[in-house]
Amino acid sequence: MLTDYHTHLRPDDIGATAADHFTAANAERYRAAADERGIEELGVSEHIHRFRQALDVWQHPFWRENALDDIDEYCCFVRDHTDLRLGIEADFIPGAEDRTANLLEARDFDYVLGSMHFIGERAVDMNEWGIWTGDRSAEEIWRRYFQTLGEAARSGLFDILAHPDLVKVWSPAHPTGPTRSAGPTGPTHPAGRRPEGDLRRYYELAMEGIAESAIAIEVSTAGLRKRAQEIYPAPAFLEMCLEAGAPIALSSDAHRPEDIGADYDRAIELLERLGVKELSVFEHRRRRSEPIGAFVP
Ligand SMILES: [Zn+2]
Ligand SMILES: [Zn+2]
Repeated sequence: MLTDYHTHLRPDDIGATAADHFTAANAERYRAAADERGIEELGVSEHIHRFRQALDVWQHPFWRENALDDIDEYCCFVRDHTDLRLGIEADFIPGAEDRTANLLEARDFDYVLGSMHFIGERAVDMNEWGIWTGDRSAEEIWRRYFQTLGEAARSGLFDILAHPDLVKVWSPAHPTGPTRSAGPTGPTHPAGRRPEGDLRRYYELAMEGIAESAIAIEVSTAGLRKRAQEIYPAPAFLEMCLEAGAPIALSSDAHRPEDIGADYDRAIELLERLGVKELSVFEHRRRRSEPIGAFVP
């Protein structure tokens, strides 16, 4: 079995409407791409901040600007007009756990991805509201990111911890290598968005929460399409999660059909190297494990 659970039926820009993208024909394009690549379990997980109901959870100005759609219409669309699993990508907002739980538990999701795109009011992966232009050091940002990630795991709100080391999004592990200026959009990688040395001292901050929860750790090939040029999470982070007994989920974070299963050969190679033999599969928020299947690159 192969899965792709972290997918979006539309790009992130606000002009990409539900009316244009939440259509049976669009869902079929994603399904066809998955079929071609041997991916049997396909689900969609739209961003919570695109839905009006998310404003009951958090009133960040970016959310207020983006919260245009109705979450129940999205759920009905996926259930009634597609054969995809129904998921959602929900942010962990410290202090809003009860409101987040109310929103999520009122709907019949197959799984909930827990993400951290913000630290406080500041965004980790966007220029708008970006955290990197302030006076915080990379060390402080990374420390707060992984501390809060551990809280996200421990909160019990989520089934899968999405792109677990997203904080590295702008900073390649090997910035002097030939891939430094290749491809991904975003500002030129400035020095100082990644602390020096062994990063396990940051990962450690999240591990207790991960070990105490039953949350699955997402292996996401999206990092390869970003300036980070590396799968989320880094191999050392993944090793620590496996030692902590965490189950693994596999996804691409595709925002278009072409990216379904993108670079899965590299993800599967990593999982094999670390001795992972099973992937998490979800239905009505119940998890089971299935042996990893064959990928068609
Ligand atoms: Zn995300
Ligand atoms: Zn996503």
